[in-house]
Amino acid sequence: MMHNTLGGPPSPEEFQRQLNELMRQHLSGLRLAPFPPRPEPGGGGEETRLEEDPIFKFDKKPRDVKAYLDRFVIRQEEAKKVLSVALCDHYHHVRLALEGKEQPNYAKQNILLVGPTGVGKTYLIRSLADLIGVPFVKADATKFSETGYVGGDVEDLVRELYRRANHDLRRAQYGIIYIDEIDKIAAAPNVVGRDVSGRGVQTNLLKLMEETEVPARSPNDIAGQLQALMDLTQRGRKGPEVINTKHILFIVSGAFTGLDKIVSRRLREATIGFAAKAAKVESDFEITTHAQTRDFIEYGFEPEFIGRLPVRVYCHPLDVNDLFNILRTSEGSIIRQYEQTFAAYGIEVLFQDDGLRRIAELAAEEQTGARGLMTVCERVFREFKFELPSTRVRRFVVDRAVVDRPAEALQRLLAASAVEEHAMLRELVREFAERFSREHGLTIRFTAAAAERLVALAQEQGRHVRELCAERFKDLQFGLKLIAQNTGRREFEIDVPLVEAPDKVLSEWVVASYRAPSPVGAADGGAGSAQDTP
Ligand code: ADP
Repeated sequence: MMHNTLGGPPSPEEFQRQLNELMRQHLSGLRLAPFPPRPEPGGGGEETRLEEDPIFKFDKKPRDVKAYLDRFVIRQEEAKKVLSVALCDHYHHVRLALEGKEQPNYAKQNILLVGPTGVGKTYLIRSLADLIGVPFVKADATKFSETGYVGGDVEDLVRELYRRANHDLRRAQYGIIYIDEIDKIAAAPNVVGRDVSGRGVQTNLLKLMEETEVPARSPNDIAGQLQALMDLTQRGRKGPEVINTKHILFIVSGAFTGLDKIVSRRLREATIGFAAKAAKVESDFEITTHAQTRDFIEYGFEPEFIGRLPVRVYCHPLDVNDLFNILRTSEGSIIRQYEQTFAAYGIEVLFQDDGLRRIAELAAEEQTGARGLMTVCERVFREFKFELPSTRVRRFVVDRAVVDRPAEALQRLLAASAVEEHAMLRELVREFAERFSREHGLTIRFTAAAAERLVALAQEQGRHVRELCAERFKDLQFGLKLIAQNTGRREFEIDVPLVEAPDKVLSEWVVASYRAPSPVGAADGGAGSAQDTP
């Protein structure tokens, strides 16, 4: 075995040499399945025709983009506008570059998104990526470390984009990389330790945001290296694939807690009048929206890093009304998910406005933006999802009371359903008697007690009422016909004993009918049971 004398991972060249050696020794003549899987037909690869690229055809206008976002994202009007413009700028530029008409010195529209958790930052970006049809990757800045050994390596983001693009190099090169919790890699001047790492990660990210080439396969990824080697030996590829980051759009975001303090201090130190006004009417978040580059630098960002993020976007906290509107009108509303989930079991659920508003109120208390909606809905509907699919409940209404006391509401629903089910089973018993009467020209009727007993038996045995009756009364017509011959009686009331022991009771009736005066004519309205007849 060959070991790297320094104990670290081998260099790519050394690794490739070792792999070559290994393959020569053991794998000659073997064809290994490519790993990771090759792109689907039509999914790209170098064969992609330029005209098929969504970017080559990119002709959207900011208003179209915003209109699309409006369907999903509630509020955040300013953010939707600014993002629409930035996105159109970026992809028009990329299209020109693809056509070879690139503007020199174009500054990429990388975006800094500021806002608390759960207010739609990711949702905005994901929707944009969907609209344009470019690959999209999201990661948290906290998972990266400066060296890439302890945490992840920022270059892995680019490789992930490549993977999401079905290994289509061109598509990967104009995808979107979204990095959340960027405020966590701010390097506050007086915090040692985290400083170093944060600053290092900023430097690494900066390289990506400017322009660099990332090997499509990580030097630390054995499978990836093996694949590279396979490509090289089997397909005669030119050389290792690299992804250029020049046209990748970078969007970073964070809550930036405490930034408002920095901003308001600066504002105080500036014009007294403005500061006084701002302090009176503005919330912490509104103050944050006045942040300037120098505030971000004071927060702990390298000037070069913040300088590469020219587009600043603010996503506002959501109030109860916003949350209500998200539930009611967003095309991505979680309510639609619940409707679908229940519909899969044939259950229709109707959300009333007062129910939605109550969900919104409870969600607002969670203080996690629209994420709170999921938490509340999960809590409210957990038992419904578990119980209802196995009941006869076919529809239910969600109002304020259901949201406030879901367990109680579910019990009511189940009880009502039990009553309904019971009535239905009784109806099936009645129907059996009716069909029997029609088929055999003899009228039978079940007493209330007998019908109850049949329902109970069907429920106990988990059987269908029709099937149970057919089996239990399979010889009934023969006995009754004999009785009819002997006595002339044509109407019979079936009581509990006959239900319990049909053969025994029926033969007693038959025996008795031979002793009866014959014929007695039609029974008097079937008031008594056949037992009374003899
Ligand atoms: P964050 O701001 O932390 O990135 P997300 O965008 O991930 O939050 O929001 C979580 C979920 O909440 C989204 O997937 C979406 O369903 C919903 N959501 C959040 N904000 C909005 C909004 N403004 N309009 C509609 N839905 C939203």
